[in-house]
Amino acid sequence: MPCEVKPRILVLYGSQKGQAQSIAEGIADEAEEKGLIAEICCVSEGDKFNLEKERAPVVIVVSTTGDGDPPDNALKFVKRIKKKTLSSDHYAHLCYALLALGDTNYANFCNCGKTIDGRLQELGAKHFYATGYADDGVGLELVLDPWLEGLWEAIRRALSKMSAPQPKRDVTDTRVSSEETFESLATDVSLHLLSLEPEPASTECLGKQEEIGRAKTESTTPAVKASETGSTVPDLRPVSVTDTTQTSPNRSCVIADHKSVLGTPSGVPAAVAEASLTLSFPPLSESALNVPNLPPPYLDVVLQEATTREETGVPVMKEGFQEVPVSRSAKLTSDDSVKTALLVELDISAHPMDYQPGDSLDVLCPNRVSEVGELLLRLGLMDRKSHCIQLSLQKDTKKKAAQIPSYIPENSTLQYLLTWCLEIRSVLKKAFIRSLVECTEESGEKRRLQELCSKQGSADYNLYVRDPRLGILDLLRAFPSCQPPLSLLIEHLPKLQPRPYSAASSRMRHPGQLHFVFNIIEFPACIERPGGRRGLCTGWLSDLVDPILLHPGKVQSSSTSSSVPKVHVSLRQNCSFRLPSDLSKPLIMIGPGTGVAPFIGFLQQREKEREDNPEVVFGETWLFFGCRHRDRDFLFREELQGFVGNGTLTHLKVCFSRDPPEGTETRTGPRYVQHDLLLHAKDITNLLLRENGYLYVCGDAKNMAKDVNDALMEMIAAELQLDKLEAMKALARLREEKRYLQDIWN
Ligand code: FAD
Repeated sequence: MPCEVKPRILVLYGSQKGQAQSIAEGIADEAEEKGLIAEICCVSEGDKFNLEKERAPVVIVVSTTGDGDPPDNALKFVKRIKKKTLSSDHYAHLCYALLALGDTNYANFCNCGKTIDGRLQELGAKHFYATGYADDGVGLELVLDPWLEGLWEAIRRALSKMSAPQPKRDVTDTRVSSEETFESLATDVSLHLLSLEPEPASTECLGKQEEIGRAKTESTTPAVKASETGSTVPDLRPVSVTDTTQTSPNRSCVIADHKSVLGTPSGVPAAVAEASLTLSFPPLSESALNVPNLPPPYLDVVLQEATTREETGVPVMKEGFQEVPVSRSAKLTSDDSVKTALLVELDISAHPMDYQPGDSLDVLCPNRVSEVGELLLRLGLMDRKSHCIQLSLQKDTKKKAAQIPSYIPENSTLQYLLTWCLEIRSVLKKAFIRSLVECTEESGEKRRLQELCSKQGSADYNLYVRDPRLGILDLLRAFPSCQPPLSLLIEHLPKLQPRPYSAASSRMRHPGQLHFVFNIIEFPACIERPGGRRGLCTGWLSDLVDPILLHPGKVQSSSTSSSVPKVHVSLRQNCSFRLPSDLSKPLIMIGPGTGVAPFIGFLQQREKEREDNPEVVFGETWLFFGCRHRDRDFLFREELQGFVGNGTLTHLKVCFSRDPPEGTETRTGPRYVQHDLLLHAKDITNLLLRENGYLYVCGDAKNMAKDVNDALMEMIAAELQLDKLEAMKALARLREEKRYLQDIWN
């Protein structure tokens, strides 16, 4: 009997916020379920893998961060493969597939993935599968899902070609010549692909009383057959589910009942009801479904009554977070403004932070008390919210590289965990929905969840989950029989991220203080979330500072020291978005709305530098600001006019998108900052191209930054008589020289 050797793949990731890592882990887990051996490493773990000798297919998942930079944990790897001393056949033996994650709202989309890919190609490595570029700007799933789906067939082909007899070559040459690509190798491995059985429909969800970890789920055993070479080639096709619920084929009837749970008048025939989160119609409701494999569970959770006072209540001081008081807060917009902008002034005198204008600060924010309470109730754990959670890895977990999340402090109480550690509003991933199927009793609900994570239900997933940004709480409200164990939430919910805000002050002008400004984000009501809601951090901050908030034109009520609000903040340096050290260089700043924040810091610093250096000739300074109405949301109006008055700001150009230009009834003037830029094209291009000026853009990434970029291209093309491509290159050169800088966000 031939000895069965499972084929092996290597999965590598470079990840900033955990997204690429979690995709890579999913690939490794699925590979194992499909009968492969999957090794998974971060590219920073150079001691655990060796690409120089790697013969197995390599799958690389890598994100891009900042201004097209590699994630921190991929910096060294990128540097290593970029070494000029490497020969053009250094990786000729290597075959790989690469998935690049990025966001088209930012410049240099998927730059890190492209850099690694390009360099591996230069060094002779070969693709066994086309590179995927997943765009977080429109939803990663759009590219991610089909890419993952095709990956298994590509791996299967690559493996079968690898296990085919190799053409004879010089035994001293250990590399594969460039002609011996996977495509050129003959396939003579007999593959006997069996259909996988549908997975067991449900598992026990809650264990013993104190055992919150989920009972183990049987994983499907992949069908494999020994190949002639002794290794096995697994069936890598997705699992097919027809209908595990054994209800009527006309699914709409079953699920229409659930719609009534959600408030649809009962008795409305399914045929006239509309599809929704909980309701589907043929063909989807009658379709056989390809659902993803069940992500292997890996955590056991035990809740223990706290014996000592272990409840921390406030976030653990780590990663440089400091608790600082808010010394003042003011509303910068009028009551009739569409958006509400608040200024927050922090007293950092007791916690010196060495910040520069252009830096940001990360603000820790908790999940909303009401949402944490609702989740505790829904999980049936309200009476144990003060219990300490103890996490351990399931001994026989099938998850590769399973780890206890490092961001959950030991001895955290359940309430602390849900308040400070997990992003409970994060959009439900298909893998999470897939796991929730197993915890849902009611057959109609179960089927609908299967649809939402299936290939056939992709459009419904986008429409009812991704677009309205549905989180776990929204789903639990809509699917009453879904009762997930706590461990599942910890496994699937990402870390609650701090929110960054640009410093809107200079320490030279305001020693011991750090200011920032933000808009309260308001999300309108939708069917899935009829109440609407505010952004997590901005909603929380606005409640926090409300007792001390100064309203424009109103007298401040005095606050007592006991009511001084405090926030946990940490400095986030930005080494490129800085004022040039050469004071004679012209500055062009473009920052509509709260995008003006860093420029307030720049101008405060410039103002002080001018006072301190009266003999120096300073470069021109231009600021392009935009808002809706002159009288409602012109942020920092007096301060900006003051900068103009004392010569710190040479030109202040403000446009009001909803006001007619002064002295007219109708709108003919510039509406947005890019229109204002075009009006001053000659001056701006001159400062930028001939006087080596610096151009800064801050604010909305989705529209403004792109429109400004287009306007700049148009201006440069016209000024230098270039075609579009050449103008693009000129702009790219400015970026490389760090004279066209962006600090933009969604
Ligand atoms: P969240 O709850 O996190 O929601 C915000 C995002 O989630 C939205 O952008 C949207 O894409 C999405 N979203 C959530 N729910 C919905 C829904 N129901 N419907 C549609 N979309 C939804 N902001 C400022 O105001 N001032 C600044 O100076 C500033 N500086 C920044 C600097 C940097 C370097 C970065 C990266 C960002 C900066 N931001 C700034 C943005 C800021 O960090 C936050 O993203 C913003 O305040 C929203 O946070 P939140 O927690 O209130 O919103």
